[in-house]
Amino acid sequence: MSYLSFSLKYRPRRFDDVVGQDHVAKTLKNALSQNRLAHAYLFTGPRGTGKTSTARILAAALNCAEGPTPEPCGVCDMCRSIALGNAMDVVEIDAASNTGVENIRDLRERVKFAPAEGRYKVYVLDEAHMLSQGAVNALLKTLEEPPPHVVFLLLTTESHKIIPTILSRCQHFEFRAITLADIAASLRRIAEQEQIQVDDSALMAIAQAAEGAMRDAQSIFDQVVAYADGPITIELVNEVLGVTDHALLSSITDQIISGDIVGCFASIDQAVSEGKDLVRLVEHLTIYLRDLLRLQVVGNSARGLGTVAKPTEAMVEQAKSLGASRLMHAIRTLAELQSDLKHSSQHALLVELTLAQLAAPPKPKQAEQAVPSTPVAGQTARRELAPAQPAAQPTAPAAPSRPEPSRPEPMQQEPSSTPAPPPAQPVVASEAQLDLPTLLKHWPMMYDELRRMGHTPIGAILRDATPIAMSGDIFTIGFTARFHLNRIEGEYKKVVEQAAERLFARALRVNCKLFADADELRAAAQTAHTESQSSATQPDDEPDSLPAPQGPAQQGTETVPQPSDVTNDPVADEPGALTDVREPLTADQVVEQTLSLFDGSAEMTEAENQEQN
Ligand SMILES: [Zn+2]
Repeated sequence: MSYLSFSLKYRPRRFDDVVGQDHVAKTLKNALSQNRLAHAYLFTGPRGTGKTSTARILAAALNCAEGPTPEPCGVCDMCRSIALGNAMDVVEIDAASNTGVENIRDLRERVKFAPAEGRYKVYVLDEAHMLSQGAVNALLKTLEEPPPHVVFLLLTTESHKIIPTILSRCQHFEFRAITLADIAASLRRIAEQEQIQVDDSALMAIAQAAEGAMRDAQSIFDQVVAYADGPITIELVNEVLGVTDHALLSSITDQIISGDIVGCFASIDQAVSEGKDLVRLVEHLTIYLRDLLRLQVVGNSARGLGTVAKPTEAMVEQAKSLGASRLMHAIRTLAELQSDLKHSSQHALLVELTLAQLAAPPKPKQAEQAVPSTPVAGQTARRELAPAQPAAQPTAPAAPSRPEPSRPEPMQQEPSSTPAPPPAQPVVASEAQLDLPTLLKHWPMMYDELRRMGHTPIGAILRDATPIAMSGDIFTIGFTARFHLNRIEGEYKKVVEQAAERLFARALRVNCKLFADADELRAAAQTAHTESQSSATQPDDEPDSLPAPQGPAQQGTETVPQPSDVTNDPVADEPGALTDVREPLTADQVVEQTLSLFDGSAEMTEAENQEQN
């Protein structure tokens, strides 16, 4: 007998064999035993969840020699030919390649004839959402008055694309994504029948890779079994799946711990030269760090680890060196990176940037430090204390070094050990009124303030956003890119608020709002601007220009340390500048912009260092 793949050999033959869809099986079995069948069914759900299998089982249940029955026998001619996919009365149509109206008209002609062998003609329309409008209309007529011997089964992964008139004529079943545990248990049954030795962690790794699709899980298992000489371990599964080499993940982690940015870059180069996909590398590094977090939190246990069956000595040590809070921060940063990578083609740049950030010495918790409301610190003091940019210090040894147990965790660090640089002088005096026009006028200074605080990339994000409202001590920033908004709304909100507090000499809170595109953002900014002007006590003569700050605010402006910022401010120069809100940047442009700023600030730090010497 020729070799049968697991997915064919273990294809479900009875409703109870379909994994994870008990709600569907129960309803269909009841309908069959009570002879209350609908003429059309719609099966929706993710791929690999058992829609096609259930359709074939239903066809067999209707046509089995002992049927109609909730338990098709599986051995009669009808059951067997349906299982093999060559029964004359069960017609499987791939709607993706038969989208046209002619195909459906042809089908309408054919449904009139009685079944050739069985009791029912069963039409299985896979990818039903792909049918053309004409085909759908033709199908609707058939669904309205179906011949009694015909059952339609519409299958789709995209239920939202099925029009309501079709939906209302079908009985709808939603197939759920199969849980990892259910997939692993089902693979375990196959392993027992095939007498294959396999670790639980290996089965879970396969289930994870299959992302809820049983068919995929079975074919990965097939592949692993074909590759294996002996018992199947998680390491072997990872090897077959092309999961990043454990040694590489471990050495990148060492480089992060020891602040070895050059080493991090070398590791990325190595991965790229070996043809590894950086998106996958980041995914696997995230899982690796998650394993370390588990070790740190749960203790030295093998349970639930994603990269190895048993934790190594080195992993335990790495977990200890990094500590829970730094690990959580790293995992969150890598998760953000994963979503950023989807929007960018410059993968190597983004990965380098993030690893450099993770490997940089932990910053003090700036948000918790008291910021004086009227700071007066001068330029010199600020420069002396300016934090080094990660890109400006790639001087660590290239060889991965052992973790330094003495490195303090960010959470444990004394805030006074490395204080944040003193802020620039505020541009608006604390007692002066702060309204939207004033905020807009000084908005570009936020980029500089953030750079001074060591958050150049956040400044770059704000260049692509604009304040659109100011109410009390809350101002709202409008964004056109969701991933920018998520960045600011997530961990960097405090940082932006702090920068604003330094500039405007008062406690301010930030709100974020997403707009569909630059036009919508521009319109909102224009409206807010006009409204804030009409409500002002001294209305401006020119409706489109931004009023200069009144009274004390004007004095504040004169003490700005870098007046060039104000003169270069396009909003201040051009009366109609509000209509000139930038088009949203692509992720790639943001990367370029961020990097150029990075380079600029690196040069600046160097120049400043020379100045001091
Ligand atoms: Zn049968």
